Amino acid sequence: MKCEHRQLTSDIAGVPVGSQVDREPPSDIFHDPRLRAVGWHDLVRVASFEILLEPLLPAAWLAASLLTAAYGHYVIALGLSFVFFLTGLRLIHNAFHFSLGLSRRATDIVLWVMSLVMLGSMHAVRFNHLRHHRLTLGEDDVEGRHAEMPAWRALLFGPAFPILLYITALRYGNRKLRATVSAELLLNAAWIALVFRVWNSSTLRYHVSAMAVGQCLTAFFAVWTVHHHCDRTHYIARTLRNKVKNGITFNMFLHIEHHLFPRVPTCHLGELSRRIDRVAPELKSKIVF
Ligand SMILES: [Zn+2]
Repeated sequence: MKCEHRQLTSDIAGVPVGSQVDREPPSDIFHDPRLRAVGWHDLVRVASFEILLEPLLPAAWLAASLLTAAYGHYVIALGLSFVFFLTGLRLIHNAFHFSLGLSRRATDIVLWVMSLVMLGSMHAVRFNHLRHHRLTLGEDDVEGRHAEMPAWRALLFGPAFPILLYITALRYGNRKLRATVSAELLLNAAWIALVFRVWNSSTLRYHVSAMAVGQCLTAFFAVWTVHHHCDRTHYIARTLRNKVKNGITFNMFLHIEHHLFPRVPTCHLGELSRRIDRVAPELKSKIVF
């Protein structure tokens, strides 16, 4: 079986045909015969309960955080919101790669809903994320641009990160993507205005504020942690092997596995990591934490 390094070439939603991103050659690791022999197609299929579980996971943490905030326990709510944001990222990331087991239309709806719940434009984030898979850590990889910064600079860069992603999508996306991103950002503006100007709900105000903080931290937690001190040829991303750490981070840090086989859903990355370890054990030497 082959490692489908080309699967995203024509699959970057919103990229105009013949753009630079389509001509970028894949990293050397995608030619590694050991990895090209790894079987992964059987891991793409998701069972009915896995399809159901994926959106229920963030929904449960969201409900818990809103309930706790409603009773005024904001410190506990903040911890629950953090886990909601993490599992929300897992959901949209699987949606980016169409690995939720849902139709394209249903996957699109997931991105629209999560754009409001987590704030931002998830279609813009998807556009940049799929470019990131094609250009990993290259000059034009906007999502991975800050991976080589020191940690403190990546944290400071955080508030500018989502804005940079929206500008890139609006600048390089096709007409349909530009319209979608604009609509999502307008909906965000309306949602924020309703929460802070019209409705008198301290719970919703807390939630929107927590999500804004979460968006400012994604540059560090979702990108820097998994790509810092990596290279463009072999060690393109980091990973994690400690079972407890993988459990509390919902397998979100099995990142080299994800870059090599992006169609494999997060729920099957554990098994994929075991198969990769058998043929290329050196890849687990770069851990996230
Ligand atoms: Zn990805």
